[in-house]
Amino acid sequence: MACALEKIEAVLDRWQESHWHLHQIEENYHNADALRYSMNAFIRSLREIPDMVSMALQNMDGFPTWHNPIKNELESKDHLFSKIIQHRNYIVHKSMLKPESKAFVASIRGHTIKMQFSFYVDPFEDSDLAIKRFIEFSKKDPILMQALAPDETQVLALIREWHIEGFNEEIIESFRNAWIRVTSYLSDILVFLGEERFPEGLPDCFRDPRDFRYKKYHRLHQDIQAND
Ligand SMILES: [Zn+2]
Repeated sequence: MACALEKIEAVLDRWQESHWHLHQIEENYHNADALRYSMNAFIRSLREIPDMVSMALQNMDGFPTWHNPIKNELESKDHLFSKIIQHRNYIVHKSMLKPESKAFVASIRGHTIKMQFSFYVDPFEDSDLAIKRFIEFSKKDPILMQALAPDETQVLALIREWHIEGFNEEIIESFRNAWIRVTSYLSDILVFLGEERFPEGLPDCFRDPRDFRYKKYHRLHQDIQAND
């Protein structure tokens, strides 16, 4: 079956690429433009996978008949993947994707939020600029900063939460789940080809989403000056 696996080499490469884009989303969580570009790239790469499977294996005996229903199940019935298709069509044919952004200034210790306030951050604004605005604001009205009381152990942070229409969870969670769904679909293809399934769930390289959603500003003033 080595030759069957060779036929889906490009598919597996696209799957690896979508995994890589997931990490880009994590790394760019606080950088508005880079985040949108990473989301677009993830959506496009993931969406292409089932069509690439169809193309790669269309001449294999019995494959199209077996594959059409499971492809249809993924594309039309699966809640997450059908949304991926919808967003992909929007990006490619209509306009730019504008995710919704919620933000909080907080003091945190590890992943524990000691205190937080909702703080408006535009979906096109980077977190470093937003925290700078907050600091400027605090100079005039120090009450919030005093309540947050950042020190060596309790760190000032900007917490962001991105959403796109149609997904209940924030985007790291939603996109990871969509990726897991496609991985499970690919596992079915591997079994058809006489190979082993991929391990279930997420690989270990996917860390707690809070590691990315909570951006810490340890050395506040140095950080701000460094970004000037
Ligand atoms: Zn990884």
